[in-house]
Amino acid sequence: MPDIHAARRARARRKFPLGTDAALITSPANVRYLSGLTSSNAAILLPVTGDGVLATDSRYTGAAQRDSPDLELLVEREVEPALAMLAARRGWRTLAFEAHQMTVERHGELSSLDESLALVPLGRVVEELRMIKDSAELALLAEACAVTCAAVADVLPQIVTGRTERGLAVLLERSMIDHGAESVAFDTIVASGPNGAVPHHSPTQRAFQAGDLITIDCGARCGGYHADMTRTVALGQPAAWQREVYELVAAAQLAGIDAALPGADVVHVDSVARNIIAAAGHGEHFQHGLGHGVGLEVHEAPMIGYGRTGTLHDRVPVTVEPGVYLPGRGGVRIEDTLVVRAGPAGTAVPAQILTTTTKELLVL
Ligand code: ZN
Ligand code: ZN
Repeated sequence: MPDIHAARRARARRKFPLGTDAALITSPANVRYLSGLTSSNAAILLPVTGDGVLATDSRYTGAAQRDSPDLELLVEREVEPALAMLAARRGWRTLAFEAHQMTVERHGELSSLDESLALVPLGRVVEELRMIKDSAELALLAEACAVTCAAVADVLPQIVTGRTERGLAVLLERSMIDHGAESVAFDTIVASGPNGAVPHHSPTQRAFQAGDLITIDCGARCGGYHADMTRTVALGQPAAWQREVYELVAAAQLAGIDAALPGADVVHVDSVARNIIAAAGHGEHFQHGLGHGVGLEVHEAPMIGYGRTGTLHDRVPVTVEPGVYLPGRGGVRIEDTLVVRAGPAGTAVPAQILTTTTKELLVL
């Protein structure tokens, strides 16, 4: 594993802004990506040439020695100032930092540490590298998705009249752990009946009733990689409007997946699905983006939506998750985690869908 992390650090260095002597990496996911260490308090000082230094506090000394044996280790409580001072001592004057991640307070502190230091923004260099996954990452993501699907299959018989949203969310989360998840990827969403009109509804004590559409958005985390899947099911025979909205969202979701090809612009992928929903008169009922990258974070680059920029590439995992939300009535969302794939010589091939739970409307 250290070889993988050293290769990632080499790729990151090549993207440093011109004139950078070293970069200070402080995003926990980026630190993990470049070092292998999972820590709530760690940072990396990565010079443009030569070896990097990993700083973390004494709670993580053992983990750092085990997971990042190829990096010089600095054990300090205040990791960012310690590394900035080290950079100054080593004559690395132009220090690039993750401006999207560092607080204004911390930036002010680092700026006043040593007058020889110049802080410059690094940009989202590591996030851009993280978009394209290697095969070990894709294997962990596939595992997380398989665990998610197994857990959903387990709890489908538990979706009965009288069960509460919270009750089902707990069963689902328990099942993901039983199937081998290290954790849940995010707080499970269970939205029943009218609550389905709220895209990120928090589960309540509302009991399921016959005639509900129930939206379940969940994911397992395996080896740090996050699955993300949404299915909407019907409890009892669905009304005509419910079936109609379901078929519309399902058609938009398939079109979005078909458009998720290497070289595709993220705005195009979004609009292919969105146009189908808008043409059916529900444009105003679909107000979030179509999808997002998944990996060490549950929402990461590339974001797929109107006004976003980016292009899909081979080995980029993304979600496609259109929805229609009808205030006071309910909603439907269908979401898969999939991997954009290229065939021989970069030819476009269909995306590989990792969340394989059926997308036929399940009537329970
Ligand atoms: Zn989701
Ligand atoms: Zn999602």
